[in-house]
Amino acid sequence: MFPKLVSGLLGLLFLCVAAVTQAGDVKKVRMWLAPDHVRLVFDLSGPSAHKVFTLSNPHRIVLDVENAKLTADLTKLGLDKSPVQRIRSGKNGKTLRLVLDLKRAVRPKSFELKPNQKYGHRLVLDLYEKDSLVKAKKTAKPKAVAGRDIVIAIDAGHGGDDPGAIGSGRVREKDVVLAIAKELKRRLDQTPGYKGKLTRTGDYYISLRGRTKAARKHNADLFVSIHADAFKDHRARGASVWVLSSRGASSEMGRWLARKENSADLIGGVGSVSLDDKDNVLASVLLDMSMTASREDSRSIAKGIHGNIKRFARMHKSHVEQAGFVVLKSPDIPSILVETGFISNPGEAAKLKTRSYQKKMADAVYKGITQHFERKPPALTYVAQRKAKDNRSYKVVRGDTLSVIASKNGVSLASLRKVNSLKSDRIKIGQVLRIPAS
Ligand SMILES: [Zn+2]
Repeated sequence: MFPKLVSGLLGLLFLCVAAVTQAGDVKKVRMWLAPDHVRLVFDLSGPSAHKVFTLSNPHRIVLDVENAKLTADLTKLGLDKSPVQRIRSGKNGKTLRLVLDLKRAVRPKSFELKPNQKYGHRLVLDLYEKDSLVKAKKTAKPKAVAGRDIVIAIDAGHGGDDPGAIGSGRVREKDVVLAIAKELKRRLDQTPGYKGKLTRTGDYYISLRGRTKAARKHNADLFVSIHADAFKDHRARGASVWVLSSRGASSEMGRWLARKENSADLIGGVGSVSLDDKDNVLASVLLDMSMTASREDSRSIAKGIHGNIKRFARMHKSHVEQAGFVVLKSPDIPSILVETGFISNPGEAAKLKTRSYQKKMADAVYKGITQHFERKPPALTYVAQRKAKDNRSYKVVRGDTLSVIASKNGVSLASLRKVNSLKSDRIKIGQVLRIPAS
C-alpha cells in the first residue's frame, strides 16, 4: 500500500513540474542565412502558441510567444548580413514579445517543429526577401535551345539546423558534402557542354521537396544527391551508390539509411505545409511513363560512379543499391544518391574531411556522369551535336580521290588520313570513311 501511495505522490509531483515547464520559454536562438531568406530557429522549453505580424514605417516584425519568457542571449546572433537590424524583447502579460527591427521589408513565414532526436520544441521564423517571390514567378522555363548544356543538379545533403551525420573529430556531413558538391560543380562547369547547379550553396536547410523542385526549375538532366553516413556501429564503412526503389529497400542498411535521410525534414524543417501536393497527383499519372526511362539512366550513371569510386575507396556493397529515398522521387529526372562513406568510421571521417579525398570523390562522380552522357547525350545538347559531328561518315563514290573528299567535307587531307588510319591514299568505291570534326 505504502509504496503505491508514494509513487502516486511522486507522479503528482512530476505532473506539477511538467506543467511548469510546459511554457514555451525561448532558450536559444540560431540563425541561418540562405540566398533568398534568413531562418531564425527558436528553441522552446515546451509547446507554445505564437503569432507573427508585420509593421511598417519603420519595418518591423513582431513575434508573440504565449506563456513564455526569454532566457536566450540574442546578442550573439551575428545579424550583419541578415535583413534584421536588431531584436528587442518585452513582456505583454504572460506573452513574450520579440520585435525584429528590419533593414528592409521582408515576408515572414513561421511554423513550429515537434521534438526529434536532436532538438526539442522549436519555433521557426523564415524571413523571405520581398523580391524573391516575384523572381520565382518570373523565372519562365528556359527554352530548349539547340546546343544547350547538360544540366546536373548537385544536391549537398542537409545544412543549417540539420548537420546530418556527425563523425569523429566533429566532422559534419553537411560540410563534407557541400565541399564535394562544389568541387563537382567546378569540374562540370569547366567542361564544355555541362553545367552544374547546386541546390544549396551555403550552410542553410532546404526541404527534401525543395531540392527536387530546384532540380526541376533548372530543367536538370540529372539529380545527384551527396551524403556521408553515420552508423551506430563505428566499424561500418564503405561508400555506396543508390537509386530509388519502388518496391522497398534492397537491404536492411538501405531501409535504415532511407529512414534516416528521409527524416531530415523533421530536423531542418519542411518550411511550409505543402501546397505542391497537386504536383503529386500529376506526377503519379506520369510516373509509370517517365519512370522507366529515367530509372534506366539512373542505374547506368549510378553503376559508372560505383565503379569509379571502387578504384580508390572501399564499397559498402559490390553493386548499386536501392531504397526509398524521398529526395530521389522525381519521376522525370534520373536521380541518384551517393553516400561517400561512413563519417562515423574514424578512418573514413579522417579521409572525408581532406580536400584531396573530397576532390577524388567529386572526380569519381564527375566521370560517372560524363561517361554516361557522352554515351547517351540528350537531344539538342551541345554534347549531342558534337557527337553527331564526330560521327560523320562518307561513302566513297566513283571519281572520288582522298583530296576531293577532304575538300568536299571541309577537312584537311592529313586529318582525314589520320582518323581513318590510312597508310596510302588508295580508296575503293563504297568504302566508308570517318570524317573528323572540322
Ligand atoms: Zn545524409
